[in-house]
Amino acid sequence: MTEKKAMPASGWNFDNSYAELPDSFFTRQDADPVRSPELVLLNEPLAALMGLHVQAMKSGEATSVFAGNEIPEGALPLAQAYAGHQFGHFTMLGDGRAILLGEQITPSGERLDVQLKGSGRTAYSRGGDGRAALGPMLREYIISEAMHGLGIPTTRSLAVVTTGEPVIRETALPGAVLTRVAASHLRVGTFQYVRNWCSVHDLRTLADYAWQRHYSDADSGDNRYLSLLQEVMKRQAQLIAKWQLVGFIHGVMNTDNMTISGETIDYGPCAFMDAFDPKTVFSSIDLQGRYAYGNQPYIAAWNLARLAEALLPILHEDEDQAIALAEDVISKFTDLYHGYWLSGMRAKLGIFNEEAEDEGLIKNLLSMMQKHGADYTNTFRALTLDRWEEMDWFDTPEFEQWQVQWQARLERQEQSRDLSRQLMRSSNPAVIPRNHRVEEALEAAVEQGDYSVLKQLLAVLSQPYAYTPEQDEYAAMPEPSSRPYRTFCGT
Ligand code: AMP
Ligand code: MG
Repeated sequence: MTEKKAMPASGWNFDNSYAELPDSFFTRQDADPVRSPELVLLNEPLAALMGLHVQAMKSGEATSVFAGNEIPEGALPLAQAYAGHQFGHFTMLGDGRAILLGEQITPSGERLDVQLKGSGRTAYSRGGDGRAALGPMLREYIISEAMHGLGIPTTRSLAVVTTGEPVIRETALPGAVLTRVAASHLRVGTFQYVRNWCSVHDLRTLADYAWQRHYSDADSGDNRYLSLLQEVMKRQAQLIAKWQLVGFIHGVMNTDNMTISGETIDYGPCAFMDAFDPKTVFSSIDLQGRYAYGNQPYIAAWNLARLAEALLPILHEDEDQAIALAEDVISKFTDLYHGYWLSGMRAKLGIFNEEAEDEGLIKNLLSMMQKHGADYTNTFRALTLDRWEEMDWFDTPEFEQWQVQWQARLERQEQSRDLSRQLMRSSNPAVIPRNHRVEEALEAAVEQGDYSVLKQLLAVLSQPYAYTPEQDEYAAMPEPSSRPYRTFCGT
């Protein structure tokens, strides 16, 4: 008799609080099975953090789960309803190609959404096929994990499986399913949906749920819903400041792609800026530059104003007073954001305390960078490493004058130059996911089935502040190209 080897327990520990919300918030729905799923990427550290058993996650059974072919015990799959302003236009959306399996309760008591993206058509698919291509799912995996490494709040990527089925875009591409992990998938667009298509009672239910899930430690004051707006705004101001400080461009900051938790979500045509220029856009569909690098803080404020609008009926029973309360909160965004940005910029220059002239010092540097088309990341890296030979324009009299001012500024604080350098090292990444490196990794994986390049890249990006010698080559710029880098939504 052959002995069947016992499968180690997988560690799934689902709860389904979202499924207990009003029926109109979602549609119960299983994933569509796929032909021949194969696990190509597993995030072992994340699996461990979630309380999942890493060996079990490599089994055929787990692959079936990541593909949507099997429902793990305790999961209650559903597609979430939401709406959103896409490039300014309001539409009904919802998970058109994703299902929420449930919420994994981790050993430390955290509640994390586990979502399959590319899992087939849902009630909200409209004309879409509900599927995802391998390249974009690997791209989301790389960039989201890079953001996590950079210390920026983000959804994360647990696994990618290929489906063995083609998806038809401009050409036939290999299909894949990404397992995405998030503090929650509540979006500004979730509130817009409930405000437009559900009752005020439902809106209150959603706001209570969001508060409980993300802000229960915050002070709810005497108006919990106004506090919710304030707290979301605070987290978004912090988040966008962090994006700006590393040169991250999201690319599609539609209201459905802005979370209530303050995590970065939906990695479509995003990319990191090379040469510093506030007008930088990578997305091929962002023709007006609505979501350009320099616009991101304004768009965040615009999106938060849409959240405020959605909350109006529960901010105050009198509409005029509700509007006044909402406006008062939203009007504070600019200062709040600016404060986070400025303190982050001080840290990038090794400055600990505050002086009124700091902002001028920072802006002068940025304007020189823009004038000389200097690489954003590598300029700060060169300043951190005292590598004066690295940038041609460090020879110019205007830079030399700036440097004298900067050094004098550092002298005026009590912290040593060493401490200052340490602060710079922990604030300026030595590496970011360079566009050409990401493309190279995707090409090897998608075209040749070779994941070694991608895994090496992931390893380097997991410690962006390490400043190891091996990171040097990943900091290098691509060979000059005649075509500007473009990202596509072709997801
Ligand atoms: P995104 O650009 O990923 O934020 O998606 C915007 C909306 O389009 C969301 O409602 C998605 O679920 C939906 N969507 C994107 N791609 C597909 C697809 N292939 N099939 C169905 N719905 C999709
Ligand atoms: Mg989206």
